[in-house]
Amino acid sequence: MKLPKISILVAVIVAVARPVAQAQQADLVARNGVIWTVDTDNPGAEAVAVLDGRFVYVGADAGVESFIGPGTDVIDLGGAFVIPGFYDNHVHFESTGRLLYGLNLLDVSDAEAFVQRIRDVDKRYAPGTWITGGDWSAYETWAEGAVAEAGKQVNPDDLYGSLFLPNKGMIDGFTRERPVLVRRFDRKVYMANSVALELAGIRKGVPDPEGIAVERDERGEPTGALFNPVTGAVESTVLVRDNIRALFKDLIPTPSRSQRVAETQEVWKKMASVGVTSYCDITSNPEYVNIYREMRDQGKMTVRVRYRPSLEKWQSMVDLGIRIGSGDDWIRFGAAKAWIDGIMGNSSARFYEPYTNNPSSRGIWRDIMFPFERSPDNPEEMQSRLERLALQADAHGIQLSVHAIGDEANGYLMDMLERIIAKNGDKDRRFRLVHAQVMTDRDIKRAGEMHVVAEVQPFHAADDMRWMEERIGHERSRGAYAFRRLWDSGAVVSFGTDSPGTNASRYYLNPMLGLYAAVTRKTLSGQPEGGWFPQEKLTVEEAIQAYTLNTAYAGFEEHMKGSITVGKLADFVVLSANLLTINADDIKDVTVKKTLVGGKVVYSAGVNAR
Ligand SMILES: [Zn+2]
Repeated sequence: MKLPKISILVAVIVAVARPVAQAQQADLVARNGVIWTVDTDNPGAEAVAVLDGRFVYVGADAGVESFIGPGTDVIDLGGAFVIPGFYDNHVHFESTGRLLYGLNLLDVSDAEAFVQRIRDVDKRYAPGTWITGGDWSAYETWAEGAVAEAGKQVNPDDLYGSLFLPNKGMIDGFTRERPVLVRRFDRKVYMANSVALELAGIRKGVPDPEGIAVERDERGEPTGALFNPVTGAVESTVLVRDNIRALFKDLIPTPSRSQRVAETQEVWKKMASVGVTSYCDITSNPEYVNIYREMRDQGKMTVRVRYRPSLEKWQSMVDLGIRIGSGDDWIRFGAAKAWIDGIMGNSSARFYEPYTNNPSSRGIWRDIMFPFERSPDNPEEMQSRLERLALQADAHGIQLSVHAIGDEANGYLMDMLERIIAKNGDKDRRFRLVHAQVMTDRDIKRAGEMHVVAEVQPFHAADDMRWMEERIGHERSRGAYAFRRLWDSGAVVSFGTDSPGTNASRYYLNPMLGLYAAVTRKTLSGQPEGGWFPQEKLTVEEAIQAYTLNTAYAGFEEHMKGSITVGKLADFVVLSANLLTINADDIKDVTVKKTLVGGKVVYSAGVNAR
């Protein structure tokens, strides 16, 4: 089925209340607003009333009066613009928490900032907890938000690139009791402090561990810098073996429960402040489901979640009784996730033809594609392991979602989906094509015909356009982030962030950046003028729908979320400007004044509630 389009630019105020037989006293009334409901039957309103966490009235100010009683909280919106809460279709929750509460060095490529960031985390973390990750220098060659010309030239003869290289002396002074192992964004280089080096047995007079080059000073003392073996050019960051990680793996304990809880609360705080009221959690450690349940039972959840484990877990999901539609208002299940190729950020996405700037590579398939074996029901047909898993999960009522970036990866999934439909029958399965990043014309058409959900993250376009054409050329770039054609083909375009990003790029949770990217198709610094492949722009109304109702649809939740409609959960946001009337270039600067979840204020102009 295709979702109705909301194309009316001017909000029409429907003066007729949609009364529940007799007006009850509401818990909350918000009135005097400009409300864009994302509900085609009732697109514009001035006021809402909320009872028991759901909308009981959406309409004109006059009609809401009868819902106000002595116990009703009344918010005067003061003419502010209101839309449904944002629903982020794709959040790597665990790594987002680690990045927000822990170390983030993506934009760091100098000693001063490096030391400062580690110092900050040292103050937050419990004594003894390892400081790890960081991904320094991610923006050293391609400045964040900049256009292609801004790329820094790296020395092509230096396999490790001529990038910032920290040493233990920078941080040893304040980390005498705490192990630190941070890495460069491409994982080719790591830096350990003295405590971590000692724990790994890396010291003066001892030979380098197998497969790792230890940088040493003139006295033979390790400097802290550790190097993985590399073969390709610095541009290609596909690392075949991460020996450093393997060496330290068993030394670094899994994060404590209290650290995970602190990280969870940090992300939820951030989400509330940018208006996110629901998100899909992509394959976080199952421990997070326990944390969610505990927080829900204590009434501490401020955002709703749909948890998606990896496809390999489909059998245990089924054993637990999980199907599409499982869960409650706060925590939901029903989908599983797989990955079949790499990413654009390090040229590992899988294409039919070689990379324009690297004729020897078409990108990679992930392990889940192997082994390729004969299909049990047709000896002439070769089948990937992914397809065997997908057929079974689909037959058992699990929703499929698969990451595909390159055109061949997307094409393979369209082929596979055709076979799944042929074998398991036609049904409302809402196959989620995750990222749908570069697609051929034929596959865009097929995605529409099979009513695929294009689970895209529009900020990727703003970020990747900086180097996209250099890597895959102009013709293939035409099919990149082709949101307009996907939408028109009949695919359901759903938005989110992919936070916290890849090891090469940061994707922020703020939905305004995604709306801005989808509507303008420009980088954050406003280039190119007129937008990159501007024929693929969406309207702002469509972009809002993609970030709310369409993501609810993508999770079989459109009956409970995604629009400001009587009977749905009262999740909505009050914004600093009217997205429908401002200049599209200004969308990225719009802020959230209030976020309400289930009719309760969870964020208000700079202050997180609860
Ligand atoms: Zn992802």
